[in-house]
Amino acid sequence: MSDRKQKATTSTDAVHAGVERSRSHHTLTPSIAQTATYTFESTATLERYMRGEDPDPEREEYGRYGNPTVRELERRVAALEGADDAVAFASGMAATTTALIALLKAGDHVVLFHDCYRRTRQLVTQTLLRFGVEHTVVEPGDLGAMEAAIRPTTRLVLTESPTNPLNFCVDLEKLSAIAKSKGRIRTLVDSTFATPVNSKPLALGVDLVLHSATKYLSGHNDVLGGVVAGPAHLISLLRDARGVVGSVLDPHAAFLIMRGLRTLALRVERQNRSALSLAKALEQHPQVERVYYPWLESHPSYATATAQMHGGGAVVSFVVRGGRAAASRVVDTVRIPQIAASLGGVETLIEQPAIMSFFELSDADLAKIGINPALIRLSVGIEETADLVEDLLNALSLAQA
Ligand code: PLP
Repeated sequence: MSDRKQKATTSTDAVHAGVERSRSHHTLTPSIAQTATYTFESTATLERYMRGEDPDPEREEYGRYGNPTVRELERRVAALEGADDAVAFASGMAATTTALIALLKAGDHVVLFHDCYRRTRQLVTQTLLRFGVEHTVVEPGDLGAMEAAIRPTTRLVLTESPTNPLNFCVDLEKLSAIAKSKGRIRTLVDSTFATPVNSKPLALGVDLVLHSATKYLSGHNDVLGGVVAGPAHLISLLRDARGVVGSVLDPHAAFLIMRGLRTLALRVERQNRSALSLAKALEQHPQVERVYYPWLESHPSYATATAQMHGGGAVVSFVVRGGRAAASRVVDTVRIPQIAASLGGVETLIEQPAIMSFFELSDADLAKIGINPALIRLSVGIEETADLVEDLLNALSLAQA
């Protein structure tokens, strides 16, 4: 078996990997190239560029095709993921949408896992279906079902690991091996929950790794973005599709994501430790029915998670005894976490998926996708661990009916 964990992204990597050492005007930090277009000195220069003979291989023609600030972010993420290259997008969903448009055509078939981010599922099962792309949805982490779902027309296996919000992990090495053994099937892993600090999917044989940079990579809940990293020929396909679709990242957003990236390892190491302490404390509390954290032995993905990841991440999901109203009382009683969607940032955020991400679903429909109405999803920030544990346990006790 290969070293499934690979080397963790360290703080030295987060600060320096893929960073330009020599910049115009000798600035230490990246400049924001706030421009929509680029100039050419003459028609001869333009024609030389068009022939692909410009001496500057990074010269851009128009903002939808590229931007130097965004390009630096792409190189940094590629370095952290151990990829040839990366391409950045306006959001995580812009990344997923553009990647799927680039990789699939009518008649192709996609296998995806039941518990992936609900907008990703919607994109495949509703939007792409309208364009003739077929799909099969299989149970979380069930590689047997995934293999059985593969058809001659299957071109993509799409998964997250860990998943949102129940933290199921899939054995990525086995998943890639199955896909490779079946011919022309590509694997795309949304590694938003893992981050390059906790997992390196490309080293496990996965073709493409995707992040909602809105979450851990930027880390400060102040910007939206998405990135896909992988081999040069696939990234080039995605970059061309971005130029058509227009799902470009703004250069100021790229600057903010790069600012956040520098502290990625520091933040995630802290979040791993705090989330694990909190998960263990919650598991002991009589008001808690179940905790979903991949670093707890009670989680079905414990063996896979601990074998291929360096830490369990910031998201701790747990079910409160007493149902929907009891969970809402806990959410309303905590003092430190704010009620908000999103995750991975410095602030601890709390949400009850049944009344936020899945508000429109009845309890019966929630049950079909494994979401308990009393489930709370907590994204642990960088506050003091002891303060968070005290706050949560206190809220659980106070919220008892
Ligand atoms: N992937 C995962 C796992 C997510 O949790 C999310 C958003 O919550 C996305 C993708 C979409 O990212 P964005 O909100 O940046 O479009």
